[in-house]
Amino acid sequence: MALKQRDGSYAVVFDGVIFTPQDLKRIAEALDRHGVKLVKFSESQRMVVVGVDPERVEELCRDAGVKLAPAVGRVVRSVKFCPGSALCTLGNQDTLSLAEKLNKFHGMELPDKMKIAISGCPNSCTEPAVRDIGLMGTKEGFTIFVGGSAGRKPRIGWVLAEKVEPDKAVEIVEKILEFYKNNAKRGQRLGDFIESIGFEEFRKAVLG
Ligand code: SF4
Repeated sequence: MALKQRDGSYAVVFDGVIFTPQDLKRIAEALDRHGVKLVKFSESQRMVVVGVDPERVEELCRDAGVKLAPAVGRVVRSVKFCPGSALCTLGNQDTLSLAEKLNKFHGMELPDKMKIAISGCPNSCTEPAVRDIGLMGTKEGFTIFVGGSAGRKPRIGWVLAEKVEPDKAVEIVEKILEFYKNNAKRGQRLGDFIESIGFEEFRKAVLG
């Protein structure tokens, strides 16, 4: 889980997005003790700790009281989410509890990487329309986008379902992941897979 950096040092990604000042203090003290010089934040909001001795990652995590997040490879990446209704005055939906539920898929192996984003309202601060799976909170529930991308081949995702309750959204995400895992070719991102079979076929397969 350690990523080699351009300067030959290694970086690891800590899981977790919301911290108390006490958590940050404990983490900072552990990083200092282990000689870490730099922390940056990933696109999925996770703490990327640069300049780590790969042999001492376990010890560092224990001291900092954190877990590592799978940051590379053909897996479900860390779920990106905004504060939602728990903290943001504009939030329609509880993004924090949905993110916690979707966390069970974190690290699941798939034909290619899988980026999931949740926003609490249509302002879409986490850009769900351009993620492999995006969940956008509205007053009536979540709108689910699939197959979006902001990378080399930008694409707005297809709207798979609207007004979805949180538990139902978790069920649908599970079906998407299973269907994609069992049917896509290695290296085929979700959007390319949907294009290859047609959105209607995909929709029928995952929604029945
Ligand atoms: S997407 Fe909406 S709820 Fe989430 S942070 Fe932005 S404005 Fe707030």
